[in-house]
Amino acid sequence: MNEVKLIEHLFEAAYVVDNERKILACNGVFEKITGFSKEDVVGKYCYENILRHVTDTGKQLCHDGCPLHDSIMKEKINTAKVYLHHKKGYRVPVQVRTIPFKDEKTGEIHAIEFFTDYMKESKIYKENRKLKENLMTDELTQVHNRKFMDYQIGMSINEYVTFKTPMALLFIDIDHFKSVNDTYGHDVGDRVLKSVAKSLSLNIRNGDFVGRFGGEEFIVLLRDVSKEEMVLVAEKLRSLINNTNTYLDNNKPISVTISVGAIFYNNSMSKEELIKEADTLMYQAKQSGRNKVRYR
Ligand code: GH3
Ligand code: MG
Ligand code: MG
Repeated sequence: MNEVKLIEHLFEAAYVVDNERKILACNGVFEKITGFSKEDVVGKYCYENILRHVTDTGKQLCHDGCPLHDSIMKEKINTAKVYLHHKKGYRVPVQVRTIPFKDEKTGEIHAIEFFTDYMKESKIYKENRKLKENLMTDELTQVHNRKFMDYQIGMSINEYVTFKTPMALLFIDIDHFKSVNDTYGHDVGDRVLKSVAKSLSLNIRNGDFVGRFGGEEFIVLLRDVSKEEMVLVAEKLRSLINNTNTYLDNNKPISVTISVGAIFYNNSMSKEELIKEADTLMYQAKQSGRNKVRYR
């Protein structure tokens, strides 16, 4: 049985059956995806309460429509998207391919079934991921939302308490944003908001977070950062926004500036105190003429 040795080297799950669908061999990937061990399945018939493939609509394939059976009977290759039964009882979406071959010793038609776990491409998995993303994302600007930032700031404070990982918070408010809306309309205001959010999110490190805190206010959470780096990042973001235009349909450029309050976390402040401090510093930046960074 060369097939038995061969299938062990595959990246796909595979099992071999004889002409009566008795399982002759399976490989390690099979064990991983299905939860069944070789001892559980070898010598059993595949329709014996093992994988019990069903279709999207719940049709049981073991006794009617089994792709392996069809391959053996008609000596043809089949492919299908089915759900197999994991040993623990849940359903795993898999793409199967069944290939018939002649057993050299007996002359009988046997078959191999290959399958890959396509959980990550499955509709339900994608929908779940989308739902999760929606829960964390601000709809207009596509940066994180306030709820997520609140949670993440809390997590970073815990990390500081446990590991002393330094962190900093930037509170950012667009200057005179009301006049953008008043002059060009709310839709253009929205476009400017999106553009500012994009500039912010593209210019922070992996592992840092940007979120929309409300209206025209954003928060940037910097992690594992020194106070000097915090000031540099805040200045960089202020300067980038200052030098960025959003273009209207007639190509007219609009630019806005931001005021930034930057606070370096270095004691036992609560999350609320941290945000409040950053907001106060941002307000001082406004007071001192806007398009400024104030930090502590
Ligand atoms: P300051 O420099 O003091 O921050 O002035 P400002 O005009 O930015 O401040 P103010 O708080 O008076 O105005 C904020 C404006 O942001 C008012 C509100 O209409 C606008 N705004 C809030 N959310 C949105 C939004 O989702 N879309 C648009 N287009 N505008 C928004
Ligand atoms: Mg504001
Ligand atoms: Mg403002």
